[in-house]
Amino acid sequence: MKGRTTYTMIKPDAVSAGNSGAIIKMIEEAGFNIVAIKKTRLNQEVAGKFYAVHRGRPFYQDLCNYMSSGPIVAMILTKDNAVDDFRTLIGATNPSDAAAGTIRQLFATSIEANAIHGSDSDENALIEAGFFFSELERY
Ligand code: GDP
Repeated sequence: MKGRTTYTMIKPDAVSAGNSGAIIKMIEEAGFNIVAIKKTRLNQEVAGKFYAVHRGRPFYQDLCNYMSSGPIVAMILTKDNAVDDFRTLIGATNPSDAAAGTIRQLFATSIEANAIHGSDSDENALIEAGFFFSELERY
């Protein structure tokens, strides 16, 4: 059965553009429950670990620089079918491919500065939430 938990973060471009509130409103209106929320900032080391799967890709260093360039808003969300439904809400990685009305179509400015992260599996949702929240904060 698909899990009820996903992890997201509003990325530095969207936070600095003042879009956090509008994005959180869309998330809540789509039926997600915010069970934990934190405004924080990634350093290069945490960004590098978070995106370790992309180590070796040509954009890896730029991605780490960008993700540590300013504050992010980290959240744990719950809903039935959370991972897939959230990926639908945020849209494709490249905003030019993102469906109309998705968060990335509305707020992303490039394939890198694409406004928001969404976990791609139940397993990764729990791993990623663990970067930012302790066990006690996850409820
Ligand atoms: P996601 O699951 O939709 O976030 O996409 P990926 O896991 O494939 O990539 C992680 C993040 O790396 C994306 O959200 C972008 O911020 C960035 N990224 C992905 N592909 C590219 C690319 O081709 N160029 C650059 N500059 N950044 C990319």
